[in-house]
Amino acid sequence: MKNNLIAKNVQEMKGYVPGEQPNGKNVVKLNTNENPYPPSPKVLQKLKSIQAESLRRYPDPVCKTLREVIARKAGCSVGNVFVGNGSDEILALAARAFVDNDGAIGYVEPSYSLYPVIAELHRVSVIPIFTVRDFLLQMPKNYKVSLFYLTNPNAPSGVQYDVEFIKKFCIKMRSGVVLIDEAYVDFASEHALDLAFTLKNVLVMRTLSKSYSLAGLRVGFVFGNEELISALFKVKDSYNVDAIAQQLAIAAIKDEAYFRRIIRAVIAERERTVALLKQLGFEVLPSAANFVFARPPAPVRAEFLFKELKKRDIFVRYFPGKITGDGIRITIGTSNQMAKLFNAIQGIIERC
Ligand SMILES: *Cc1c(COP(=O)(O)O)cnc(C)c1O
Repeated sequence: MKNNLIAKNVQEMKGYVPGEQPNGKNVVKLNTNENPYPPSPKVLQKLKSIQAESLRRYPDPVCKTLREVIARKAGCSVGNVFVGNGSDEILALAARAFVDNDGAIGYVEPSYSLYPVIAELHRVSVIPIFTVRDFLLQMPKNYKVSLFYLTNPNAPSGVQYDVEFIKKFCIKMRSGVVLIDEAYVDFASEHALDLAFTLKNVLVMRTLSKSYSLAGLRVGFVFGNEELISALFKVKDSYNVDAIAQQLAIAAIKDEAYFRRIIRAVIAERERTVALLKQLGFEVLPSAANFVFARPPAPVRAEFLFKELKKRDIFVRYFPGKITGDGIRITIGTSNQMAKLFNAIQGIIERC
């Protein structure tokens, strides 16, 4: 319906569609890539100690202490770090900071479906690089954008592009900013952080939402040279990260031992999941993330499997479309959750 009070581009856009957040005790939720383990106990301890006084006042607008903790861990200086209200905020700020009105935004298609939504909001065009069934990426020719969002490992496939390829890609893209979205990199065996300090056009982004089990906290951060980082500071909202989030993020990042432990557990469960799916005849893409993309054996259809699992209160993610429509994306849960999933899948497959 037309409403002249609403901007044209907003009227025309569909908006981002997030994964379902079903309620209920017995739901097995494997659809939005949350970590199945609780956050570090140090986080809860810190939460309980928070004083009312620290809420009466505005939070630190530049997240100084949190950025120091992040910088120390990464071995860079505070000026190379920016913190956002979730990494989703940083994606939007990057569009604000690096894309002119006549510029364009690029990304791999399929990858994170928020990217084109951000472009629509900024009224700039998109030039996706299309991938195929294996999700591998070809080096583009005659390709130019102001900002490229590069999800690595890729979502929804879990496929990781190696650092050497990423480096060549970024060098080729030097007339624009490449933001490497490493939301899942803690589950992978290599990362591209060095590129943020050695190439002038590269930002590397991380989040506490997946590997640190803190999707509810909304903290993401990004590394880059001081010029790019300063541009993000210029365009951000005054107090973009709240006082509680800053304090709890510090507690989480400092508990390195716990972090390593839950990552190891997720990776071990992922390897078991991949093996079991293959035994059942699924085609599984190699995953460096905390989820797997699996194509069921004929005659089982992915959409049917997704719906049948949902009837049993097991939520996975189904993305219609040419490349993704024949598979489902399964977030790695606890052993118990995965056992329930496999039980259900076996039952469904036998009836097909
Ligand atoms: C989950 C996810 C994010 C969002 O992270 P937040 O820090 O929770 O905003 C960003 N990029 C990709 C590819 C993701 O899957």
